[in-house]
Amino acid sequence: MEARPERVKVVVIGAGQAGLSVAYYLRRFELVADDDFVMLDRAPGPGGAWQQRWSSLRLGTAHRVNDLPGMAELGLSFETADRSLPAKEVVADYYGRFEEHFELRVRRPMDVRRVSNQGVDLLVEVEDRTPQPLEEEKARGLFGRRRKTFEPAGPPPAPRYEIVTQFLVNATGTWGSPFVPYYPGMAEFRGRHLHTSDFTDAEEFRGRHVVVVGGGTSAIGFMLELEGVAAGLTWVSRRPIDWIDRQELDLEGASAAVALQDEAARSGRALPSVVSGTGVPKSRRIAAGIERGLLVARPMFDRIEADRVVWNDGSEVQADVIIWATGFRPELRHLAPLKLREKAGGITVGQGAAWSDPRVFLAGYGPQASTIGANRAGRMIARQIMAML
Ligand code: FAD
Repeated sequence: MEARPERVKVVVIGAGQAGLSVAYYLRRFELVADDDFVMLDRAPGPGGAWQQRWSSLRLGTAHRVNDLPGMAELGLSFETADRSLPAKEVVADYYGRFEEHFELRVRRPMDVRRVSNQGVDLLVEVEDRTPQPLEEEKARGLFGRRRKTFEPAGPPPAPRYEIVTQFLVNATGTWGSPFVPYYPGMAEFRGRHLHTSDFTDAEEFRGRHVVVVGGGTSAIGFMLELEGVAAGLTWVSRRPIDWIDRQELDLEGASAAVALQDEAARSGRALPSVVSGTGVPKSRRIAAGIERGLLVARPMFDRIEADRVVWNDGSEVQADVIIWATGFRPELRHLAPLKLREKAGGITVGQGAAWSDPRVFLAGYGPQASTIGANRAGRMIARQIMAML
């Protein structure tokens, strides 16, 4: 007989800033028992998407990184964190200590594959990505089995299990859903296409001709890191860069950008690019880059050929590598069975709640897609859930 699925009141998917903030408030509002709520995250350790980012990225390079609610209780603050260390290490360390202090017991690496209706409740299907011990693999016949064919065995399927829940908080961020726009000739390019999410180290591109695409802080960061490393370096952007005279940007303080995101989320439209509303802060390092002619973006090229990018005015530059710093989309594939998506391309979300399904909340979506917005999501969503339980 199949094991009965576990039953809980709330499932939180994702243990980044948004998921941790919701969990913190749920605990504060006294959801404490193990059958009250569970948190699932597919990553191997704490840190949300930060743990996946490139090593040279530092905290506060352009945007402010806000502390999680309750972090002060641990004597921790991103404000005073060591900025000589990679952001991925600092955030993973702080989030890890936060989880431990507030006993959040995140289950990982647990990949949520699908959320569907189960009567009045929701069924969450989870793939357990815990590396299988060698002995178990042997017992399943992966090693030393006599085969009739010479086909490689491949890894055994990961174990799956189900959880039934009253409420779902989806806090899966965007890192797993990179966006690359289409340009003619992309498939013919013989060099390497790379998205922000694949970038690990500038040294990889020593002596290569690199084209960086994008008008945000990631593109600018790549340009600064590749200067003097790449043999040729070209920056292109689809929009003229909207420089603003500030050292650092508090994404919540950029009220025009937040309002644009909120408006799109409330009307079920696809979310606009965050950078299009915030502008790009001109820190001292960036201002110097503009001054010496490095950070001057060309308009977007019109097509890609095997070893170059080409503009309609006849100009072209050699390219071995194209880095697409062109942003991300919300990662929501696993919610498809719930049919939340509107014809306009987005999900209608107000105050973190999905308007077409009162059981579903989206934390860190749209106007909440910053560390401060994610904090706000926590209190807002936890309050609504507590009122309905
Ligand atoms: P994430 O940190 O992405 O966490 C989502 C979690 O969900 C991940 O741990 C992931 O493993 C998990 N997950 C995803 N799908 C599944 C699934 N199906 N099953 C199980 N788990 C799943 N914001 C700022 O305020 N300041 C900054 O300086 C700043 N810098 C940034 C730099 C870069 C390069 C980028 C891309 C973004 C930056 N942001 C910054 C935005 C910022 O990262 C986010 O707003 C915030 O950290 C996102 O938190 P989150 O919890 O929504 O998502």
